Amino acid sequence: MPLPPIASPGRPLDRPAVERYARHVLLPQVGRTGQERLSAARVLVVGAGGLGSPALLYLAAAGVGTLGVVDADVVETSNLQRQVIHSDSDVGRLKTESAVEAVARVNPSVAVVRHDLRLDSSNALEVLRDYDVVLDGTDNFPTRYLLNDACVLLGKPHVWGSIYRFDGQVSVWWAEHGPCYRCVFPTPPPPGAVPSCAEGGVLGVLCATIGSVQATETLKLLLGIGEPLVGRLLVHDALAMTWDALTVRKDPGCPVCGESPTVTSLVDYDEFCGVAGPGDGAAADGPRVSAPELAVELGSDAPPLLVDVRGPDERAIASIPGAVAIHLDEFRDGSAFARDELAARGRRIVVMCKVGGRSAEATRLARAAGYTDVVNLDGGVLAWVREVDPTQPAY
Ligand code: ZN
Repeated sequence: MPLPPIASPGRPLDRPAVERYARHVLLPQVGRTGQERLSAARVLVVGAGGLGSPALLYLAAAGVGTLGVVDADVVETSNLQRQVIHSDSDVGRLKTESAVEAVARVNPSVAVVRHDLRLDSSNALEVLRDYDVVLDGTDNFPTRYLLNDACVLLGKPHVWGSIYRFDGQVSVWWAEHGPCYRCVFPTPPPPGAVPSCAEGGVLGVLCATIGSVQATETLKLLLGIGEPLVGRLLVHDALAMTWDALTVRKDPGCPVCGESPTVTSLVDYDEFCGVAGPGDGAAADGPRVSAPELAVELGSDAPPLLVDVRGPDERAIASIPGAVAIHLDEFRDGSAFARDELAARGRRIVVMCKVGGRSAEATRLARAAGYTDVVNLDGGVLAWVREVDPTQPAY
């Protein structure tokens, strides 16, 4: 169901504007009024990098009146493979500087507001407050959670995208109409457990795929047309060239947008993402089994008990057949050990999560509770998806 347009119409289009935006004006869903809405709209693009590049270019070309750009970094040579608003001669300059020039080349009537800073809990609300929509092109978890919470507190839609290697995800988080990022991803991954594009690489053009979906969703929200990506998570695999649309739901217990929120102001997001539990970052410690080894074990006459410690939303995205769902919290409070599935202490147990951090903690807790043959699935379900069952989406 379309939502009401976020942007109100601005000044009537003059003749040059009608000419420039003629292909929009021809669309019954946009028309003159829609184009006037765009010209009055204010969109904040956080990150003038891979996702921000196509988003800025298309939002500028579309005639969004004001574009804010947040970035504190300078252009590096390794950015040029995908960050198409920057060029060779921009290396060493602030990204916001070259973003301003790129937008001006495309559409000089667009006002660009530079925010040469790193968003944190001290400045985010102030920066976001003046914008209609926030387009998230960040590449790190603290800023993502920060943007989510700030958008929830301010009642703004958070058009989020994420890319890694050949995979992309995109959604619109908007607590007033659907889930927020935290509803679906309640806890950040252990520090270091999820490799960044800097570590694992990314296909450059994937930025265009995902960033332009974000720009499309932003325009739809501003215009109030079509079916917004609220409550749906698109998962894209560029190698298989597939798109999966997963339904994602609001969590009534969400700490920021749920029925009794406990996060009512911005917190320290570096700390939030850094304190994922003692030892959680040391996922490589302790006894482990690889995904291909697990596949063999599961196919044997005496398969181990496979325990998935993730929540239901994550399990819905990718899972290993036969796994029993016992949440990490149940290991933490000890209730897991009262479950029937864990009654036989002699049986081999393999514990899994997304990448191996949370399951490492559950493995330790199980060993402390007297289970002797408990091992952690190295690399989690993502390793399984990568090495055993590539038909499932990575997330
Ligand atoms: Zn939420």
